[in-house]
Amino acid sequence: MKILIVNAGSSSLKYQLIDMVQETTVAKGLIERIGIPGSKLKQTVGEDKYQVEMPMNDHIEASKQMLAALMHAEHGVLRSMDEIGAVGHRVVHGGEHFTASSIIDDDCIKAIEENSQFAPLHNPANLMGIKATKTVMPNTPMVAVFDTAFHQTMPAKSFLYGFPMDYYSRLKVRRYGFHGTSHRFVSEQAAQFLGKDIKDLRIITCHLGNGSSLSAVHGGKSVDTSMGLTPLEGVLMGTRSGSVDPASLQFIMNHEGMDINQMVDVLNKKSGLLGVSGLSSDMRDVEDAAAKGNKHAQIALDILHNGIRKYIGAYAAVMGGVDAVVFTAGIGENSPELREEVIKDFEYMGMKLDPQKNKVRGVLADISAADSKVKVLVIPTNEELVIARDTLELVGESQG
Ligand code: ADP
Repeated sequence: MKILIVNAGSSSLKYQLIDMVQETTVAKGLIERIGIPGSKLKQTVGEDKYQVEMPMNDHIEASKQMLAALMHAEHGVLRSMDEIGAVGHRVVHGGEHFTASSIIDDDCIKAIEENSQFAPLHNPANLMGIKATKTVMPNTPMVAVFDTAFHQTMPAKSFLYGFPMDYYSRLKVRRYGFHGTSHRFVSEQAAQFLGKDIKDLRIITCHLGNGSSLSAVHGGKSVDTSMGLTPLEGVLMGTRSGSVDPASLQFIMNHEGMDINQMVDVLNKKSGLLGVSGLSSDMRDVEDAAAKGNKHAQIALDILHNGIRKYIGAYAAVMGGVDAVVFTAGIGENSPELREEVIKDFEYMGMKLDPQKNKVRGVLADISAADSKVKVLVIPTNEELVIARDTLELVGESQG
C-alpha cells in the first residue's frame, strides 16, 4: 500500500508518498505561497526535480495540484489516485483528547477544532489540509497523528505548572509537549539498536532542530518533556527564547511600552540563537561565526549547550538514572561540536563520547566511548515514517 503524508501550514503544504512494502519514500513535495501571488509546487522523485508555478488560491486547489503532480505523465509516480491507500496528516495539538493517533471522522475534526485554542497558528492550518484532501479524495481513509499524543503518559507532577489549580481544571493550562512522533521514533530505534526491550530502558531524547525539545522516556513512555503548553518553553531555539523568568516580561514590557502580544512575538520570533547572536537563527551560521571569534555567537552556543546539559541532568534525576542519550533532528544529527560540548564532563554519570565516532553526521551511530556506561547515540528522525506506520495500522484495523 502507498500512503500519502500531508503536513499543512497556513500557506504551505508538504507531502510525501511512502510505499509501505519497503517503507521507502516514492515522492516528496512542497507547495508554497498558497493564497499568495507566486504559488508554486516543487516535487522530487529520486533524482528528478519537477517545479511548476501557478495560482493556487486555497488548500483545495493546492491538493488538486499535489495529486496532478503525483500523477504527472512524465514526473509523476501514480497512474491513478486509487493507488493511494490512505492519507496521514500531521496535526500539532491534540490536547488531552488524543493520547494516540486517530482515524479522521467528524468527532476527530471537532476535537482538533477545539484544540485550536492551544495552537492557533497550527491546528487551523492542519485542518485546512485535512478538509481540502477530504474534498479531493472523498473515499480515501485518513488518519491524524498528533505532536502532543506521545507525551500524554506524563504524570501530573510533570505536566502541571505551579498555577492555581483552577487554571488547569477550567482552562486546561498544562504542559503538553511537542515533537512526540520524533521522541517516540528515536526512543524505539534506540532500543532496537541496543537490542534491548524498551520497557527496561531510561532514555533521554534530544530533538534539536529549529524548534528543540528534550524528553525523558522511561520504559517507552514519555515521563517529562521540555516544551510546555506551547512550543516556546524549554531550551534556546532558532528564534525562540526557551524558558525565561515570567516576571521579566513585565519588566521589559513596562520599559519598552509593549503589549503582551508584541512581547510573545519577540520571544517566539526574535530571540534564541538569532536574538542572542544578532546574526542568524541557523545553527550553521552561528557555529561558523563563533569559530571565527564572534563573541555573541559563542555566548548563544554556550547558552544552548548549557541548557541541554541541565535538562539531561534533570531527566537523569527524574528517571533515577539514564541508559541512553539520543541526539536527533537537524542540529542533533549534524553538529558534532554541540554533542561534544553537551556530553563533556558527564563522566561522573558514566557518560563519555568517543571523539572519532562523534564525527558522524546524519547517520545512525553509537558515538559513546567503549567504557561509557551510558550509550550516546545519533539517530536520524523520521516523523513521516511514524505517521505512515500509524496510518497503515489504524486503517488496517478500521477495515478489519
Ligand atoms: P525543523 O525544526 O525546521 O524541522 P531541522 O530539524 O531541519 O529543523 O533543523 C534545522 C537546524 O539544523 C538548523 O539550525 C540548521 O542550521 C541545523 N543544521 C543542519 N545541518 C547542520 C550542520 N551540518 N551543522 C550544524 N547544524 C546543522
